[in-house]
Amino acid sequence: MKVAELEKPGSLRVKSKPLRALRTGEVLVKVESCGLCGTDIHIVDGTSRSTPPVVLGHEYAGFVTDPGNDPNGIPEGTHVAVDPNISCGRCAYCRRGLVHLCTNLRALGVDIDGGMAEYSIVPASALYTIPQELTAEESMFIEPVSCAVHGMDRAGIRQGDTVVILGGGTIGLVMLQLVLHGGAACVIVSEPLEHKRKIAASLGASLVIDPASGALGQAVMDETGIGADVVIDCAGTASTARASLEIARRGGTVLFFGVCPIGETIPLEPNAVYFRELTIAGSYVNPHTFGRAIALLKGGVVRVGPLDVKGYPLEGVHDALDSLRQGRALKNMIVPGS
Ligand SMILES: [Zn+2]
Ligand SMILES: [Zn+2]
Repeated sequence: MKVAELEKPGSLRVKSKPLRALRTGEVLVKVESCGLCGTDIHIVDGTSRSTPPVVLGHEYAGFVTDPGNDPNGIPEGTHVAVDPNISCGRCAYCRRGLVHLCTNLRALGVDIDGGMAEYSIVPASALYTIPQELTAEESMFIEPVSCAVHGMDRAGIRQGDTVVILGGGTIGLVMLQLVLHGGAACVIVSEPLEHKRKIAASLGASLVIDPASGALGQAVMDETGIGADVVIDCAGTASTARASLEIARRGGTVLFFGVCPIGETIPLEPNAVYFRELTIAGSYVNPHTFGRAIALLKGGVVRVGPLDVKGYPLEGVHDALDSLRQGRALKNMIVPGS
């Protein structure tokens, strides 16, 4: 079968790879759609961890073509989404219910062959049945939405809050919809690219700002008088991380959501965190949030139509990554059957 395999950081190749036999508990899925995201770019560039050689793709959905040997398994033909994060169930974190912090965590598309392929072998326990209302595009979005749902859990937004989202890419725009639904009265989105700012405005952002204008801090103060209740950094850069800490109000929360390159650092004044009583939180992947992500997409709370997803065949994976890298596209997906 055809796959897009990361041979080593910096080298992603579309090639043919034999499909191995299923082991106990595994299911064969014919991939319908597989999203590309900033994490894939980081993995290809070597600024986020992975275990090559590995077939990339951690945001995918498809149809069960071989349910394996479990008589109570998922029937052939079922439309399924794949939760790529596989925890061990035995470590101290798993036993505390913190499956995403599992010390043996491995992910499809990062450590184990994933969804940028015609077929993917997946543990049955990682599959979620997709309601028939969801399109291929929406099904591919279940994984990124599930991560944003965990971010919302971590951010602790309350009714009437003012929230600033730094970065109006796909995840920022998903987060925007969740934050509005979650009760924020005012959501300010900071994004350098005009076409993304337009989409943010159309999705209900109260204010959209180009960070290059230098007006973000003042705009937040004009709006709130004291600073933002919650700041969500969806961009994952040193400059947005610094800005997050500056524009939060006293007693506010800063959520580091976007993937900052490994090794990137920012100066932090502990006295300011102490005196301003800031809460600084991280959000990593999607513990037990797949079901809620599916419900949010099915219920129309998260709309992916405005994000203008473009489909590429497997051979187009480099073009798809480049257009994301350059900010030309918001979200691309690989459609292996095309
Ligand atoms: Zn992703
Ligand atoms: Zn574990």
